[in-house]
Amino acid sequence: MNAKPIDLRELTREEVIALVAELGEKPYRAKQVWEWLWKKHAPSVEAMSDLPKAFRAALAERAVLRPLAMAEQQHSDDGTVKCALRTWDGHVVEAVLIPTEERITACVSCQIGCSLNCAFCATGLLKRIRNLTAGEIVDQVVHIARLSVELYQRPLTNIVYMGMGEPLLNYANVMRSTERINAEDGLGMSYRRITVSTAGIAKMIRQLGDDGAKFNLALSLHAPTDAKRSSFMPINDSNSIAELMGALRHYTRLTRKDITFEYILFRDINDSLEDARDLVRLCSQVNAKVNLIEYNATGDGRFQRSPADRALAFQNFLQAKGITARIRRSRGRDIDAACGQLANKNRPAEDGGERLLKPAAAQKP
Ligand code: SAH
Repeated sequence: MNAKPIDLRELTREEVIALVAELGEKPYRAKQVWEWLWKKHAPSVEAMSDLPKAFRAALAERAVLRPLAMAEQQHSDDGTVKCALRTWDGHVVEAVLIPTEERITACVSCQIGCSLNCAFCATGLLKRIRNLTAGEIVDQVVHIARLSVELYQRPLTNIVYMGMGEPLLNYANVMRSTERINAEDGLGMSYRRITVSTAGIAKMIRQLGDDGAKFNLALSLHAPTDAKRSSFMPINDSNSIAELMGALRHYTRLTRKDITFEYILFRDINDSLEDARDLVRLCSQVNAKVNLIEYNATGDGRFQRSPADRALAFQNFLQAKGITARIRRSRGRDIDAACGQLANKNRPAEDGGERLLKPAAAQKP
């Protein structure tokens, strides 16, 4: 027995082919295994039912699967469902199903906790525990997609990486998960339906350009000047707005894709027409459209939501300058499933912020 078993979904396709060959099986078996991993979502090696029993046993000696398990669901009055999913090592990941008339969206997490400490975000209160694997990110989509059909008889239309964590600080796994969501021998969803949201890591935005990333990119801007942005987003100290704009220009030049700025409207902090004017300048530098986001209270009272008339005036100002700007209504607020509210709230107090469930009874294949 190996001390540390291989997580099958951590392997590349080539590595799966090599492992199958090593176990003395024909090459087409590797294709079967790959499909069980990424298309048919086998919960265990044992469940790969069209593989010979002896091969399954040999494979299970060497490798395991570590799927996320649905632990809990909370249903909002507006149809939003927040899911707590348990990892093999006992952590909890949150993912949200958001149904609207035109869309049905899965909002997924990419890290357990977060290292960025944005002052307005509840996830920032948790420490970063670890990155999620590509398999764990895809599992959230799979669970939410099932739920969507079960509850609303509709397939998912969109996937947003706007749950817990910073996608560009878990770059490889995020890239790999979008590739698996897109692939024909994966979930088969178009990149156009996937949006990755970042708090702004300039170097990695450039990398997205170099790698020709095909999904949509959203930047959590939230303030048009460094002074303001740094006052509630510490990441801005090392990734200034000018650096971010430079990185975005690089990205748009290479990918030919548009950018979306997310901008939470905080009362009397960033919601004046002067702020709007500064924001217009940034938008024209990179041809961005703007999603104005309603602030969801996360507890400490430092921030308030901008009143509706001020939000509307802000939006009108942007639109008058020719910038596409929509106000994004908050969803799932009654169950703390809205933006910035994912923080494992039903946790026992003693674990210091993160809800730690017992590791699932040895997830043997
Ligand atoms: N780390 C990534 C993705 C997670 S946040 C990022 O920062 O983009 C997804 C979106 O929710 C971001 O735009 C974030 O700024 C926003 N958000 C965070 N806290 C919020 C709150 N309390 N109310 C409304 N939006 C919030």
